[in-house]
Amino acid sequence: ATPLSVTIGTGRGARAGVLYRSADALQGAHDIDTIVLDKTGTITQGRPELADALSVQGMNDDLLIRAAASAESNSEHPLAQAIVQAAKDRNLELVPAKDFDSVTGAGIDATFPSGSFEAGKGTPHVLVGNRRLLESKGIELENEIADRTGAQSLLDTARSWEDQGRTTIFVAIDGKLAGVLAVTDQVKSGSKQAIHDMNERGIQTIMLTGDNQGTAEQVGGQVGVTRVVAQIHPEDKASIVKALQAQGHKVAMIGDGINDAPALAQADLGMAIGTGTDVAIESADVTLVSGDLNAAVKAIDLSAATMRNIH
Ligand code: ADP
Ligand code: MG
Repeated sequence: ATPLSVTIGTGRGARAGVLYRSADALQGAHDIDTIVLDKTGTITQGRPELADALSVQGMNDDLLIRAAASAESNSEHPLAQAIVQAAKDRNLELVPAKDFDSVTGAGIDATFPSGSFEAGKGTPHVLVGNRRLLESKGIELENEIADRTGAQSLLDTARSWEDQGRTTIFVAIDGKLAGVLAVTDQVKSGSKQAIHDMNERGIQTIMLTGDNQGTAEQVGGQVGVTRVVAQIHPEDKASIVKALQAQGHKVAMIGDGINDAPALAQADLGMAIGTGTDVAIESADVTLVSGDLNAAVKAIDLSAATMRNIH
């Protein structure tokens, strides 16, 4: 690569919102055959909002949301922020937790002063998170309800929400299922086109997420990724990139979160969403300034053009 063609490529990138960390990053982007993408904040906007709530008999939606938000106010997770915001919008007063435990990739376990959330004696425990979290604490999730949705059980309703691409969050109070919440996070407007363009260039696209299988498949289908890997732990992302490399693939990773940093560093080409966390940006070779995935396609095209000019 001549210094001049690299300078030209770098300048074109900057105008298109693609910032390369180094000349190596520009030259290395051309022979990528696999792109691994994080879901939340990368393919989607990463601004989840509460869309629905379903409480079991003897509960009501306000009480359910108040308990969930009181527990979630101790979490920095975007899903937590959506639930806390929903409580604020409804003018529900949050209860400060006495103690809490944040379970990475799963949810929150918090205890509250006695009498909170109309629970019985003692200090009520509130669990908020995915199925796995509640099941690991021995909560029975199958709950029959002749509810307004016409579904036969709470799990049926949860599954139908997931099939619509919503993330479900289960809530238990004092060892008993209290209800389920649905959170939506819109797909970014450019994601479908960008993934189509990647696939068209013969690059396989793999979406990774800690979210449940149903939600992940719906979102993955919406944007047309080649493959979906759901229900993974945050630390799995880097190992998945490594495994693909061991199979001989040249792998790019696109992500926005602190969780994505190890995978961004492991990839042959790490591309960080410019509106994401600083840790992700610092671990990446390329920054996609606006967060639009079409810039990732641009990054690969520019690299190919630069290499053509030089050889
Ligand atoms: P992602 O890869 O989608 O960013 P995470 O690995 O952060 O997801 O979390 C995986 C899953 O764990 C989430 O989809 C959610 O079901 C659950 N989860 C994690 N943190 C929380 C929380 N604070 N409240 C509720 N659910 C949570
Ligand atoms: Mg993310």
